[in-house]
Amino acid sequence: MQHIAFIGLGNMGAPMARNLVAAGFHVSVFDLAPAAVTALVDAGATAAASASSAVQNADAVITMLPANQHVQQLYLDQGGILDRAKTGALLIDCSTISAEVARQVAQAAGERGFAMLDAPVSGGTAGAAAGTLTFIVGGPEAALQRARPLLEKMGKNIFHAGEAGAGQVAKICNNMLLGILMAGTAEALNLGVAHGLDPKVLSDIMAKSSGRNWTLEVYNPWPGVMETAPASRNYSGGFGTALMLKDLGLAQQSALAVNAPTPLGGLVRQLYQMHAQAGYGTQDFSSIVQLLRPGQDG
Ligand code: NAD
Repeated sequence: MQHIAFIGLGNMGAPMARNLVAAGFHVSVFDLAPAAVTALVDAGATAAASASSAVQNADAVITMLPANQHVQQLYLDQGGILDRAKTGALLIDCSTISAEVARQVAQAAGERGFAMLDAPVSGGTAGAAAGTLTFIVGGPEAALQRARPLLEKMGKNIFHAGEAGAGQVAKICNNMLLGILMAGTAEALNLGVAHGLDPKVLSDIMAKSSGRNWTLEVYNPWPGVMETAPASRNYSGGFGTALMLKDLGLAQQSALAVNAPTPLGGLVRQLYQMHAQAGYGTQDFSSIVQLLRPGQDG
């Protein structure tokens, strides 16, 4: 498997595709944003004029798109991936979407003779750049075995969650928890700072105490505390508030589908809804801390 088509070169897709190029694969790339394609061509990829021309000779297709509708359109529309991909190509969707749509697209792919995996990721843009992502995979074991040589070039941990859609269920559970942890960390930091504490000192204390969590360790939401975190570059790049809001909505939909109580997930979705409406949709999701301290930038 040498020729890969990679579609969707945003905050996550670009560094993932770059790692495949660096590993020696022939990577055909497409994104609606021409600048994203140019940046990958500079890194050694081949530009395609459309998604369908990117996939036509590829042994495997990887997509990294924002949400349900983008995945449905790209795979299922007339002239889309299922119409144009090479016979026997392996299809891997790494976007975070609903389990229902993942199953719908996988079923349509299966009817056309393609093996397909839902393989959403965790690890953020830093993990994508470093090639240390966690892949959370749903779909047939045999397809996962074929995918491993590719996934291993982009990630460090590969989990098989179950059949088609199971990767998305696990990913949504994770991101609901992440949203809760980020909002809780922001709230605790804001409380401490309101009492005059230094946010860096408070972060160091909690990171070594029982409140320890990923947001404190690698993604601190308070500006200036962690040089590498989006908070220290005006919340640019990273994982957009609108994408977190999408994931929290997916969590609520999947909770309704099985009557599972998710009170904190529901509350944090509301917080992210208000935050997006306040104009933070394109900024990193750690900017939720600004909801608690309006008017105090940076
Ligand atoms: P992004 O918005 O930065 O990038 C999405 C890219 O897809 C854009 O460049 C856009 O132009 C492109 N695109 C949209 N429709 C297209 C189409 N029809 N054809 C070609 N290109 C198209 O998003 P991202 O942050 O890279 O996230 C992508 C997915 O990964 C989302 O589902 C997100 O929830 C998930 N995710 C993101 C992160 C993160 O930290 N950013 C982490 C884990 C998972």
